[in-house]
Amino acid sequence: MKDMTISELHQKVEREGVKGFLAQDEAETLWRWVREVAHKAPCLEIGSYCGKSTLYMASACCASDSVVFAVDHHRGSEEHQLGEEYHDAELYNPQAQFMDSFPEFRKNIDKFGLAHRVIPVVASSELLARVWQSPLSLVFVDGGHAPETAHHDCTRWVTHLVPGGILAVHDIFASPEDGGQGPYDAVQSVLQGGAFEWVEKVNSLGILRKRDSK
Ligand code: SAH
Ligand code: MG
Repeated sequence: MKDMTISELHQKVEREGVKGFLAQDEAETLWRWVREVAHKAPCLEIGSYCGKSTLYMASACCASDSVVFAVDHHRGSEEHQLGEEYHDAELYNPQAQFMDSFPEFRKNIDKFGLAHRVIPVVASSELLARVWQSPLSLVFVDGGHAPETAHHDCTRWVTHLVPGGILAVHDIFASPEDGGQGPYDAVQSVLQGGAFEWVEKVNSLGILRKRDSK
């Protein structure tokens, strides 16, 4: 099940009913950028949930024999908690009274035969960032949407990107009527730093590239 085409991937994701929050055009864009840069260094995502984005990133890693670090505490964001808009009862443990998306994540990665491309890190982005030291070719930010969380995830992780590396950020909404401004504002902060250039936006997925340092 190596190196599936993008349409085979879309079809299998649909067929298997993989839970998640990534639209097809966003998934394809993420896949395309991972294919472009993953030969330079491993990739990393913040916010794996049930593995939808992970599957596209991992599959895109096959061509260059690369890997993706899939970071998530698997306890869900604010909107996934009991009683909130995106709560999924199938991912809730009523005895323990917490969300746990990790079993579903693992099941999906195994089902697609991609375990050899994925290094799950069951931890918060903040905790891992404190000790992380390795260069990365692409960072996909899709974790917590609170302004301080989005700001942390964008500004902290980009320091590990290699020159020409990609920052991909989900849920970018230029207008507050369309969605929360945390990720949008975080991307503006990164751009203001001057080390990144804006590349493209597909649906709500924004792509920035780290300039070559001269
Ligand atoms: N990328 C996924 C959707 C991610 S939903 C897809 O393609 O479907 C957001 C995820 O971010 C949730 O699983 C939540 O547990 C995780 N998350 C929220 N805040 C986090 C943090 N501070 N550190 C790590 N993961 C976090
Ligand atoms: Mg998202």
